[in-house]
Amino acid sequence: MHPAEPVSKSDNLYESSPVYRMAAHQLRSVAAAVDLDPGIAARLAVPKRSLVTGFPVRMDDGHTRIFMGYRVQHSLTSGPSKGGLRYAPSVDLGEVAALAMWMSWKCGIMNLPFAGAKGGIACDPAALSPDEKERLTRRFTEEVLAIIGPRVDVMAPDLGTDEQTMAWIMDTYSMKVGYACPEIVTGKPVELGGCVGRREATGRGVVYCVRAALEELRLDPVGATAVVQGFGNVGSVTCDELIKLGVKVVAVGDRYGALRNPKGIDVAALHRHVNAPANTRKTIVGFPGADEIAPDELLATPCTVLVPAALERVITGSNAAKLRCRVLAEGANGPTTPDADAVLANSDVFVIPDVLCNAGGVTVSYFEWVQDIQQFMWSEEDVNNELRKLMLNAFARVRRQAAERGLSNRLAALSLGVQKVATEKLKRGLFP
Ligand code: NAD
Repeated sequence: MHPAEPVSKSDNLYESSPVYRMAAHQLRSVAAAVDLDPGIAARLAVPKRSLVTGFPVRMDDGHTRIFMGYRVQHSLTSGPSKGGLRYAPSVDLGEVAALAMWMSWKCGIMNLPFAGAKGGIACDPAALSPDEKERLTRRFTEEVLAIIGPRVDVMAPDLGTDEQTMAWIMDTYSMKVGYACPEIVTGKPVELGGCVGRREATGRGVVYCVRAALEELRLDPVGATAVVQGFGNVGSVTCDELIKLGVKVVAVGDRYGALRNPKGIDVAALHRHVNAPANTRKTIVGFPGADEIAPDELLATPCTVLVPAALERVITGSNAAKLRCRVLAEGANGPTTPDADAVLANSDVFVIPDVLCNAGGVTVSYFEWVQDIQQFMWSEEDVNNELRKLMLNAFARVRRQAAERGLSNRLAALSLGVQKVATEKLKRGLFP
């Protein structure tokens, strides 16, 4: 049995999820590529702690509905565990566990004093009223109270959640402990101790990486083209930042459809369309400045930079050969399956792997946590300068690791993250 294969499959609660199997496969690939202590590899292959809760919420029409919620702490070795909370119909224990594992590697790559966690509630946030979302969030916070805390586990926004969600969690936790405790979450409103630039941080970090990749490939961003899947927090800010570099965004997709305009989409006008009060689904569909295309055409649209910024497992063994991009910048977590990686390895696509590419979010979350604890807030200029410095430094270390060890960018990035956590575990030793 391989050391990173922890327990028999039938004993492993998480293995039924394809996303978890993907994360576990990546860890085994790292263990095979770099020298990893077998005992540590086994410890890293299963989450440290998981909480599963079926909890009731009173719906607006008066009936009671049970929701399934999850919080998984992959590791507690490097500091408090840190990771987003997602609201999506696909959420299950394995998906959340995979995302928690990726958070551990991401914090390791960025040298942040955090371990990885993730949470989620299986629900369709678009089908909930604001009041229902608030009751859902507050009740979930109550359910996980025993395992969260500013020095234990700190949540942040992810798919389907936002600053308002974090404000409700902060308020619920603060009411429980009896004092205002902003450092219990990151990604909250600036008025409540949030960090300026946190909302934009993930997209900004994606574009710092894209810029570094284009420089390495000697491609001029001015006149380059981009396709972005997802127009939520990560996708929309990525579009804004690409435009600032001179890149033309030629196609965009969301949950409801996809759009293309080879002359370049007017992204500011697209924001206005999405945020118009009459656009209740907040979708890009219906935007007059581009043609609608079939969603499965989106990823195969020719472009310089392709940014998946929505869901996991969208680039698979069956569509990877159809990509027509030079740079694949993974804004989403886990958008590319191991089968697709095998196809991309034989292509000229420069992959910026998720654990590096979207690490800007957790990096500025770290800045936010530090500011809240010290009660000393930074300027946006300081936040962005520090973010750029840390992202470019991590990009350079990943490229060095890839060159020195002959690894793909993904294995290089993952191995840096895994090795950081492994070293900490080895130095701390095994209790008792
Ligand atoms: P979000 O909820 O703000 O936006 C998600 C977007 O994806 C929306 O435009 C939605 O319509 C679209 N989408 C949903 N289902 C889709 C489908 N089937 N096909 C195409 N598009 C679809 O979420 P977000 O915060 O932007 O997160 C997006 C991704 O980035 C997730 O993988 C998340 O884990 C990752 N991520 C987010 C952050 C962060 O700071 N928010 C940080 C790191 C990684």
